[in-house]
Amino acid sequence: MEFDTITAISTPVGEGAISIVRLSGEEAIAITNRLFQGKDLTKVDSHTLHYGKMMDPKTDTVLDEVIVSIMRAPKTFTCEDVVEINCHGGLVAVQRVLQLVLDEGVRLAEPGEFTKRAFLNGRIDLSQAEAVMDVIQSKTNEAMNVALGQLDGKLSQLIHKLRQELIETIAHVEVNIDYPEYDDVEEMSHEMMEEKTSYVKDEIEKLLQVAKQGKILREGIKTAIVGRPNVGKSSLMNSLVQEEKAIVTDIPGTTRDVIEEYVNVRGIPLQLIDTAGIRETEDIVEKIGVERSHKILQEADLVLFMLNYNEALLEDDRKIFDMLQDMNYIVIVNKTDLEQRLNMEEIQQLAKGQVLTTSLVHDEGVDQLEKALSDIFFQGNIMVENNMVVSNARHIQLLNQAQKTLEDARDALQMHLPLDMVQIDVTRTWELLGEIVGDTASESLIDQLFSQFCLGK
Ligand code: GDP
Repeated sequence: MEFDTITAISTPVGEGAISIVRLSGEEAIAITNRLFQGKDLTKVDSHTLHYGKMMDPKTDTVLDEVIVSIMRAPKTFTCEDVVEINCHGGLVAVQRVLQLVLDEGVRLAEPGEFTKRAFLNGRIDLSQAEAVMDVIQSKTNEAMNVALGQLDGKLSQLIHKLRQELIETIAHVEVNIDYPEYDDVEEMSHEMMEEKTSYVKDEIEKLLQVAKQGKILREGIKTAIVGRPNVGKSSLMNSLVQEEKAIVTDIPGTTRDVIEEYVNVRGIPLQLIDTAGIRETEDIVEKIGVERSHKILQEADLVLFMLNYNEALLEDDRKIFDMLQDMNYIVIVNKTDLEQRLNMEEIQQLAKGQVLTTSLVHDEGVDQLEKALSDIFFQGNIMVENNMVVSNARHIQLLNQAQKTLEDARDALQMHLPLDMVQIDVTRTWELLGEIVGDTASESLIDQLFSQFCLGK
């Protein structure tokens, strides 16, 4: 397929030592060459760098000193000729270079269009394209690993394998129906069909099981810190948040506006909920109490319930213990540096979850807490190591639908309906799985997906 030549600034908007204007398409090299003073770029080898100057042809003035990389199709990100102009200086210089390129008739790329080209030119499939976006947005190293695994095509490989199983089954039934006289093709039986479909169903089931952890990696474990006023909730939050600032800002390309609410504990993102409530001033704290806790707890995946070592248990605390019964929670007894007034044996009895002690003013116990948090997460034998976590909401939805159609197929098989009826469900499953990798995805879906990308990717 031939597309027009597109361009965009591919580095983040803002001041930086270097900014990149990228071009992709048939005209990319010729157009750059017209604006470039230095070697003849149309004659240089592929995948080489060239120093020179960007010239404004109208005024014959130098716009910027640049390094231009020339990458010829097909071994490029988009499978097309790609040029990257590395500009010096700040925003103005790079925008002037971009304008220069646009003046030559190159079209400004839509968000995600470079990645879309890679997809349309067959270099990557849809789940890999989505992974590019996930990499850009990952909040932690683990989330990034998952996305990188997808980029690598691990999910796609499995999906392709499952689709292959299904299509073979479908073909087998077709042959039986259309060419009943072919004796050498074994007749597809209900048992064989059930065996094939249940294999695919089991594989999808496994993917869905870990999908929840995948979601957590992307969105963070919704964590509520509850407890009576003054037990040390904001102190705990601050000590967790402090650690996070150092880690999160290290990851390239992370969004920084959500730092406040996210805490990265040993690679696991906690999304602290109702932090505003924690920060509220003393006079309205009275009103919060149990009622508010109830509401917060409903939203939480994990609860950190704080108690004061220096105060006896109150009725409100017991009510919270009741509410926590079926939840994931850790009890934190804080202020162990003060005199003991809390009956620890009673706490051990009430708490079915873990009980940890801290003295936040002395920074004690935070390490153990962090370890407990990561243990809770990794207990659910998450498959992060081999990167087979499905973390994308669209993929999860499609897998759920595929699971449903396979259940319909199984029901039909058990009712001994004719195989060509069962075939309908199997074909539908094959289509649904195809949408994950983009083989059967409709055009509007593809447009919508790619428009979610940052410009320039
Ligand atoms: P919150 O109302 O639950 O958010 O509690 P804060 O975090 O605001 O803490 C209330 C007070 O307890 C503050 O003055 C903290 O400095 C103090 N505090 C927090 N943790 C400890 C601790 O481990 N030991 C002692 N002695 N004081 C603490």
